[in-house]
Amino acid sequence: ISPASELIVEKPSAGAKSDKATYKDVGGLSNQLQRIREMIELPLRFPQAFLRLGVEPPKGVLLYGPPGTGKTVIAKAVANETDAWFTHISGPEIIGKYYGESEQRLREVFEEAQAHAPSIIFIDEIDAIAPKREEMGGEKQVERRVVAQLLALMDGLQARGQIVVIAATNLPNTLDPALRRPGRFDREIAVPIPDRRGREEILQIHTRGMPLARDVDLIRIAEVTHGFVGADLEALAKEAAMAALRGIMPSIDFEDFQVPYDHLRTMEIDMKNFTA
Ligand code: ATP
Repeated sequence: ISPASELIVEKPSAGAKSDKATYKDVGGLSNQLQRIREMIELPLRFPQAFLRLGVEPPKGVLLYGPPGTGKTVIAKAVANETDAWFTHISGPEIIGKYYGESEQRLREVFEEAQAHAPSIIFIDEIDAIAPKREEMGGEKQVERRVVAQLLALMDGLQARGQIVVIAATNLPNTLDPALRRPGRFDREIAVPIPDRRGREEILQIHTRGMPLARDVDLIRIAEVTHGFVGADLEALAKEAAMAALRGIMPSIDFEDFQVPYDHLRTMEIDMKNFTA
């Protein structure tokens, strides 16, 4: 979750490394990816097949699970793999707008997605814009209007299957049930904390480009990192790399910057650098 000051609208091909995510960058979630591919990739790729079969592809898919488990990476990966236009909105950012602006931005996002179909609209932290309506007191007027606008936009989506809204939340039970009715977010996929095997796959992904010493045993690291989510494992791998660097550059003197180039070229990250 990265709070940004503006609504982010991006195309996956023109971005940072994570925007290039593919299914190979998602670890430990093969069942979830399988379902995502059936629900989103197939209709995006073969809309005629769904029409012919009389099967309605979903308009909305809800990914729920703890923070840092890979919900955003999954959404980006499916967009990249299908070459779909990708738009990313975050719930709290929409709510932060002035009166009437939130709905306007939502409408713009949907219009843009329609113009660029096939498209994926990713709404991160949807719980911020769509808490249960009965729980919204007088001060929750903005949320009430934004939920109503989102529901209207989803109901009005044409080109069914060619525009898919993927929403992510850590708090599925706080969502307005109206959002989960048929024709809206009627498919749900749990994105859980990874198990040992999942942690191993995620560690493999995040150490892929690293010069690991022979003693580095990712299976062992996966065993002792119970409770770590993907974001934690990524941070662990980065921290190990920094620890290795500190090992050969114990005190970095920025005044008289001496980089031991030979060491840098041959340096490796070894097991003791991984301190979970
Ligand atoms: P939040 O609810 O906080 O938005 P999220 O579930 O959307 O979290 P991501 O943003 O997808 O989490 O993941 C955060 C970081 O952790 C990403 O940079 C990603 O590389 C890494 N990561 C998380 N889960 C996985 C995973 N299953 N496989 C590979 N990397 C992962």
